[in-house]
Amino acid sequence: MAKFIVLLGLPGAGKGTQAHIISKTLNLAHISSGDIFRENLKNQTELGKLAQTYMDRGALVPDDVTIAMIQDRLSRPYCNNGALLDGFPRTPTQAKALDEMLSKTNQKIDCVPYINVPAEVLIERLSGRWSCPTCGFVYHEKFNPPIKPGICDKDQGELYQRADDKVETVKKRIDVYWEQTSPLIEYYQQNNLLLEIDGTQAIENVSNQLLDSIQRRNS
Ligand code: ADP
Ligand code: ADP
Repeated sequence: MAKFIVLLGLPGAGKGTQAHIISKTLNLAHISSGDIFRENLKNQTELGKLAQTYMDRGALVPDDVTIAMIQDRLSRPYCNNGALLDGFPRTPTQAKALDEMLSKTNQKIDCVPYINVPAEVLIERLSGRWSCPTCGFVYHEKFNPPIKPGICDKDQGELYQRADDKVETVKKRIDVYWEQTSPLIEYYQQNNLLLEIDGTQAIENVSNQLLDSIQRRNS
C-alpha cells in the first residue's frame, strides 16, 4: 500500500534537507510545494507569477491554487508508491483537502513527523541557506557546506540564496506559521498521527530519529 507522510516544522526546521534524504531511503516521491512554486516562477508560468506576489512578502499562496497544484502532483504515476509532503499542508483548509484527496482513492496519511526547533535558531539557519536551482538540494554555509563553495555536490549547479530568506521576510514567515500552520500540530495530534522529532540535533541524527520513528510506527 502507498505511504503518505507529511513533514511539519517552522521555516528552516530542516524539512527540505530531511525530505531529500528520507524520500530516497523510503522510495517515496518528494513533493515540495515551495520547490514547485519556485520552478513555476523560474519558467514564468501564470501560477509562478501569481505565487511570487505572495512569496515575496512571506505570505501564503491562496489555498485553492495550492490545493489544485498538489492534487495534480499526487495523481501522477511517480506517486504510485506514495509521497513525502514537504511544505504542504500549511493551513487547516489544506489539511482537510489532503484528507479528502487521499480518501477518494482509499488512502490516508501514515504519519506526520513534526521537526521541532526553537524559533531562535531559524534566522541563522535561513540566512546561511544555499540551494541548488536544478535539484533543490539545500546546503548551509556553516552547518552543511558543499565540497566546493557555491557549487552543488550532486550536479554541479550554481547555488543561490533565496530572496525570501532575508531577515525581514523570515520574521514574517515565522509569524504566518504561528497563525496559520501551527493549528495543524493539534489537528494531527488528535488524529494520532504526530511524531515529534528533535530538530536541533545534527542533520544525520535527525534523519536517524525520523526513520526510526516512522519504522517503529509501522511495526
Ligand atoms: P525547511 O525546508 O524546513 O525550510 P531546510 O531543510 O531548507 O529547512 O533547512 C534550512 C537551513 O538549515 C539549510 O541551510 C540547511 O542546510 C540547514 N539545516 C537543516 N537541518 C539542520 C540541522 N539539523 N542542523 C543545522 N542546520 C540544519
Ligand atoms: P520553507 O522551506 O522555508 O518553509 P517553502 O519553500 O516551503 O519555505 O515555501 C516558500 C514560500 O512558498 C512560502 O513562504 C509561501 O509563500 C509559498 N508556499 C509554499 N508552500 C505553501 C503552501 N502549502 N501553501 C501556501 N503557500 C505555500
